[in-house]
Amino acid sequence: MAVKDYLRERFFPHMWCAGCGHGIVLNNMIRAIEKLGMSKNEIVMVSGIGCSSRITGYVDFHTLHTLHGRALAFATGVKLSKPELNVIVAMGDGDALAIGGNHFIHAARRNIAMTALVMNNRIYGMTGGQYSPLSGYGTLATTAPYTNIDQGFDTVQLSIAAGATFVARTTTYHVKEMTDIIRQAILHDGFSVVEILSQCPTYFGRKNKIGDAAAMMRQFKDGTTPIGSKAAKSDPGLIERGIFLQVDRPEYCSEYDKVIERARSADHTTT
Ligand code: SF4
Ligand code: MG
Repeated sequence: MAVKDYLRERFFPHMWCAGCGHGIVLNNMIRAIEKLGMSKNEIVMVSGIGCSSRITGYVDFHTLHTLHGRALAFATGVKLSKPELNVIVAMGDGDALAIGGNHFIHAARRNIAMTALVMNNRIYGMTGGQYSPLSGYGTLATTAPYTNIDQGFDTVQLSIAAGATFVARTTTYHVKEMTDIIRQAILHDGFSVVEILSQCPTYFGRKNKIGDAAAMMRQFKDGTTPIGSKAAKSDPGLIERGIFLQVDRPEYCSEYDKVIERARSADHTTT
């Protein structure tokens, strides 16, 4: 199947601003799926609310565009009822880790097999540029005109601590790396988190005077480095990219099947 066959072309042109990073994520996610040779019918894509969440409208899979912060809760229901399907959950930074933060840590803790894409542009784009839990200390936002004093989460560390079994970070500049990481995340049998640093030139870039989309992507190029590189050791300001964790741990749907089996074979006559 060709890459374009996975798209709902009738919904194009898309609604993202010129230069928005989310289209790059869509492109590379589709390429990862095409490389895996998956059929449209075996994929369910779930999103919450926000610019990033519009991604579900553009893919010709089974799609659910749900409530703000609740994408993982809906996705958990889908996966438990149809574990044979591949579930991909697209979320923005605010969506995933502010209102959806509790769903996020518990989905990670359960190790339910789904792929969570955190499209991190460090701002609420759709609602006008408010700061999010990933904006970071010292940044500017519509709701922080005199600088944001909230410290940001580290998505990678948070995911590992909460129990995710595949954890990675990439950027919209590193497109081949992104495709490869998403492909591996989909293949992983457990809760996979891929944080993708993505640019919002309309709000984050403009408010923080970074420049246009190209300047923001240059920042991803110059401000990141592969995990464990020489540069990472000498410059703690660089953000590391790559796969931080990939381990096997019992997967939730398989474990749940065992509970059903135990319940079926239990002797209920004495209880
Ligand atoms: Fe993208 Fe920002 Fe525009 Fe939303 S507001 S579409 S995140 S550039
Ligand atoms: Mg955002």
